[in-house]
Amino acid sequence: MKIIRAYCLEMNRVVDIYQARDHYFDIYSSIDLDKRRRFQFLCSDENCRTKNKTLVSGVNYDKLIEETDNYVRPHFRDLGKHMDDCEWVEFEQVTDEIEAEAEQDSSSRPRQTRHVKRTDVVDIFAPGRDDDETGSEGLVGTDEYERVRRMPDARSRREALKTLLRRSPSQSSILENVVSSYHLLTTKQRESTMLTVKGIGERSYGEWFKHVKGCTLHDDTFIYYGGAWVKAYADGSFALNFFDEVTIDETPHKLSMYLKADRIKRFKSQAYLQTMLEELSRSHEPISEKSGEREEAGKAWDYATCYFFGHITLSDKGAGYLRANVDHLNNLVLIPKSKHRK
Ligand SMILES: [Zn+2]
Repeated sequence: MKIIRAYCLEMNRVVDIYQARDHYFDIYSSIDLDKRRRFQFLCSDENCRTKNKTLVSGVNYDKLIEETDNYVRPHFRDLGKHMDDCEWVEFEQVTDEIEAEAEQDSSSRPRQTRHVKRTDVVDIFAPGRDDDETGSEGLVGTDEYERVRRMPDARSRREALKTLLRRSPSQSSILENVVSSYHLLTTKQRESTMLTVKGIGERSYGEWFKHVKGCTLHDDTFIYYGGAWVKAYADGSFALNFFDEVTIDETPHKLSMYLKADRIKRFKSQAYLQTMLEELSRSHEPISEKSGEREEAGKAWDYATCYFFGHITLSDKGAGYLRANVDHLNNLVLIPKSKHRK
């Protein structure tokens, strides 16, 4: 059963998994691993929580997750028995009904995904425009959703939820959710599954995700990705240096993204991002030159796959350099990888 929010006992409130991760890194990032305590979560549904004390567990919010074939983003996992009118029980029932109807109704848009529920794949990405905005997981928590949840009659409530979910199965302002959807889809599904980016338009996942090697200066915004190594500067700033050079006018260019210390400090997920960048920067030489040495030193990561929703411009560093830009740090996702560069 999909659970999008849970009540965190340590935070005394209902949170999504990224808010839990931010708080966990806020309080623990400078504390030894063996002194850290995982959070306890109960169901976000008040009725379920007070009557049943239904436990929920948080997965992968308390560490940096390596990109592997089985990469699993942070999420909540269902543990206990929920009430019949629990928001997640109803959410599941309604999404199952929508899935079943979509399969039966051949006139509706073709079923885009196999083994993947439509509600698990982001279909509308509403990117933040500046670092101060808070991200949101989607429909859950919006005023419309809360209004539906307050409807006393179960049948009308489920019908209203169905209308809401049909209109927008899965909207998110967090790029990590979009990247996770991309990982869930097969190569073929990426070509047929559409993603709308608010303010820009609709393309297939396959069209939105573009390797940095394929960028040109005239391109508009894409979700770019590529392997990058991280360099730390003494003033607390970082550079993400992409391995692959970008050829423009038959000239190879080096591509980097700069993250200034004060920008990182202002970001709401500051502790998580800072930890990620520090860990990655410990192995700051390109892997081909140093891999043997690093293995001996037992370092955790060699590099990261860097995903960013943004654009690429000429760098003020001069000829042969390009700069990757994001408006909002939520539009940057780093997933550590180890050893073999792909
Ligand atoms: Zn519940």
